[in-house]
Amino acid sequence: MNLARQIEQYLPQQLLELVKDISGQAAEQGQRVYLVGGVVRDLLLGDPSLRSGLRFDLDLVVEGDAVKLAQQVAETSQAKLLAHHRFGTAKLRYEIFTLDLATARKETYARPGALPAVTPGTFKDDLIRRDFSINAMAISLASNDYGELVDPHQGKNDLEHRLIRILHPGSFSDDATRILRAVRYEQRLGFELETQTAQLLKQDIPMLDTISGDRIRHELELIFKEKQPELVIKRLAELGVLPRISPFLKGDGWIAEKFDKARRLQKPNQLPSLYFCLLIYSFSEREIEQFLTRLNISAKLSRAMCDTLRLKTSLPLLDKPSLKPSEIYYLLREYEPVAIQANAIATDEKEGTPSLIVHHDLQLFLTKLRYVRTSLSGGELKRLGIPAGPEMGQVLQVLHKAKLDGEVRSKADEKKLALSLKALDFHTDPEPPRE
Ligand code: ATP
Ligand code: MG
Repeated sequence: MNLARQIEQYLPQQLLELVKDISGQAAEQGQRVYLVGGVVRDLLLGDPSLRSGLRFDLDLVVEGDAVKLAQQVAETSQAKLLAHHRFGTAKLRYEIFTLDLATARKETYARPGALPAVTPGTFKDDLIRRDFSINAMAISLASNDYGELVDPHQGKNDLEHRLIRILHPGSFSDDATRILRAVRYEQRLGFELETQTAQLLKQDIPMLDTISGDRIRHELELIFKEKQPELVIKRLAELGVLPRISPFLKGDGWIAEKFDKARRLQKPNQLPSLYFCLLIYSFSEREIEQFLTRLNISAKLSRAMCDTLRLKTSLPLLDKPSLKPSEIYYLLREYEPVAIQANAIATDEKEGTPSLIVHHDLQLFLTKLRYVRTSLSGGELKRLGIPAGPEMGQVLQVLHKAKLDGEVRSKADEKKLALSLKALDFHTDPEPPRE
């Protein structure tokens, strides 16, 4: 089968020219280059919207020396080069796409879950080390058979039958991240796990224990970049995979509903953190500690997740109809915004405890209160005769509270208030932030 026409249609012109140029340069050195992996799968599916993310990331396999080839290409184009000599791989980063070049290789796993030992191999060796048949196809870019599909594992047939199939029975135990990958593709594409693949997947769930926290977290991050990660989470729960990552994780209807809501509220770049915060919403403090350690979660995300639970236990403080905006502000300002967002989404129910008042308070903070600033600056206060230092800090705080509560509306109002405070020789202690 020849896919030249599909390549020309699917790839942006600029990228196509670049890829052809790379293949030409390779040919001069007697090397062959192939397109592999996801792009081949998506080309055959003919649905560009299945591409994850907005960037075009292409994988190329080089029969020869990928690093040398990438170095040569980088010299003649505006790419940023990142080479890993040890693995024989190189990344060429352009403004709107990246190319991953890999020397065709053979992999052997010394023990389950370990990173594989890599030795140079043939192009066919390179396909057999891959995760699923639908990801183990290639397209030749050489001029004599440009566009020819190479499909030794019947990936095209599996695409037509909508199946996720591993290439050999030891696949999941070699690399249990493939368990998470299998479910991710199954749900993204609306496919099914082929029967033996499904059996082995379930059988090898305990092999997830052999995978480092960083690699598991990375797979979760990839899941959170999917259009509907809740489908993947739900399916992982159904298959019994989720408890192996953490026994406290749930993939129920609540998660599905809240993830959907999150997507409608949050900008895409902050969505993964919000999903993480919602995922652990039912956790206790001890449970979250265990999860953060297992997945080696970064300090920043850990803070957001812990804040989510800390705020959840403090929500009753917000459950009063008489709170002033400034009181809401001081109750919430110490929490990470994404933790507040997670709580706003979690409390968005018709009935239940805590009440909708809490939800509205959280929304008010997120949409308005956190952006409120005084109109008068420190410099302007100085010109009004208020000296820099603690006194000015107190005046600014009073102005800020008054603005939050709508007691001052204009710069002139603030000036008036500042001068009246000055006349009072204002120096009470500032109110300590409340827990
Ligand atoms: P997408 O980016 O659309 O999710 P992709 O197929 O491009 O899909 P990548 O994660 O970019 O996926 O990986 C590129 C290719 O590398 C895959 O198609 C697959 O052939 C191979 N691959 C990735 N991870 C593994 C793994 N854990 N085991 C075996 N092969 C893998
Ligand atoms: Mg990819």
